[in-house]
Amino acid sequence: MSAAFDIVVVGAGPAGSAAAMTAARAGLRVGLIDKSAFPRDKLCGGLFTGRSRKVMQEVFQRDVDEALFLKCDHMRFRAGSEILSEMRDAPPFYLTMRYAFDAMLYERAVAGGVVPLTGQSVQEYDFDDNAVILRDGRRIGYRVLIGADGANSQLAKALFGRSFDPATIGFGLEVEMPHDGRQSENIVEVDFAAARWGYGWSFPKARTTTLGVGGIHSRNPDLKTRMQEYRELHGANGDLRVKGAHLPFGEFRPRPGRANVLLAGDAAGLVDAITGEGIAHAMQSGHLAAQSATGALADGAPDTAYQRYQQALGPIHCSLRQARLWRLMIFPAAMTDVFQAAFRRGSTLQTKYLELLAGEIEYDHLRTALFTRAPKAVYRIARRRLGLSV
Ligand SMILES: Cc1cc2nc3c(=O)[nH]c(=O)nc-3n(C[C@H](O)[C@H](O)[C@H](O)COP(=O)(O)OP(=O)(O)OC[C@H]3O[C@@H](n4cnc5c(N)ncnc54)[C@H](O)[C@@H]3O)c2cc1C
Repeated sequence: MSAAFDIVVVGAGPAGSAAAMTAARAGLRVGLIDKSAFPRDKLCGGLFTGRSRKVMQEVFQRDVDEALFLKCDHMRFRAGSEILSEMRDAPPFYLTMRYAFDAMLYERAVAGGVVPLTGQSVQEYDFDDNAVILRDGRRIGYRVLIGADGANSQLAKALFGRSFDPATIGFGLEVEMPHDGRQSENIVEVDFAAARWGYGWSFPKARTTTLGVGGIHSRNPDLKTRMQEYRELHGANGDLRVKGAHLPFGEFRPRPGRANVLLAGDAAGLVDAITGEGIAHAMQSGHLAAQSATGALADGAPDTAYQRYQQALGPIHCSLRQARLWRLMIFPAAMTDVFQAAFRRGSTLQTKYLELLAGEIEYDHLRTALFTRAPKAVYRIARRRLGLSV
């Protein structure tokens, strides 16, 4: 072995850095591998919710600040050229550039005692010998391995034969539109008509605005055209580079690992099926994976790490299951009118969606709030269908 650790983490995004940080804090020897040297780019809208903020505080003991985050409480919902509603005192969103944000998390993990093994991708996994073999030939030994290597996880592929299901995976396209002195006001915008089973987004940052469209890949064969239309709507013409990436949009892995190998973040498919939010679940699952590994090692039973982790992931899986159910009520074409009308009216649905997007409530709250109002909504829909005034 070139090196041996209690825990080896592959991937130093939010999931991997959180896992490494938690394990190092527990006094374990931790190696953190990433194919990139940091800072590195990661395609993302950079919308950082109240949910993400809480996890970052807990795991990294760091709060949002002006150096890395733009605070915004002006929100707009639209459907193509129609603005459905706009709010100026919305629950606050924080917006960040992943280039700087991920580097900050990574640096905190390294400052916490994690051994960095970056700029090297993994060549092979030797599960029989508990070792990761890097491209440069080094063998890195582990007692527990945590895979946080993103949506195209090579570790998930090594374990299960493929990293994701092409029929259900999401895909997003983005451009960074420079402000060039044009930006008058920071507005977080969501456009329900920009993609099928997904949406378009305009997320302001300090120097640019991130414009994107994304949704279930198989339902959006024309995503490039939709991106072009969304750019035109925002006057983002010019020579801007369009980048694309997969996002595991609600299709999480029911069994994210086995024995002493755990998958966290996008590698485990932990992205919300409606909002596309993944940073909070990535950090949270990395933290839980490290806690599970720490407990298993303390008991001298590394192979029990997965069993503990599966149990710890219960609340995240429950939330993702609920999101998948809600998606069936929100995204089908037959529901578009009802959904958009609710947003025009400034209904409870709109308020709750906004609070959910901002990470202020969870799906349980949404269910309680909406089901108590369901009879009224059904009555309104029935009247509309019968051609009576609402
Ligand atoms: C277009 C788009 C927009 C999004 N917008 C938002 C948003 O606004 N808000 C939000 O909360 N979420 C958003 N997400 C989701 C969010 O980006 C992810 O859920 C989040 O980055 C997951 O973190 P992670 O640590 O699991 O993986 P990643 O951040 O992808 O990190 C994986 C790491 O693994 C490394 N790696 C990969 N393969 C290897 C290998 N073979 N060897 C070594 N290292 C490897 C990579 O270099 C990378 O550093 C968006 C996603 C997309 C695609």
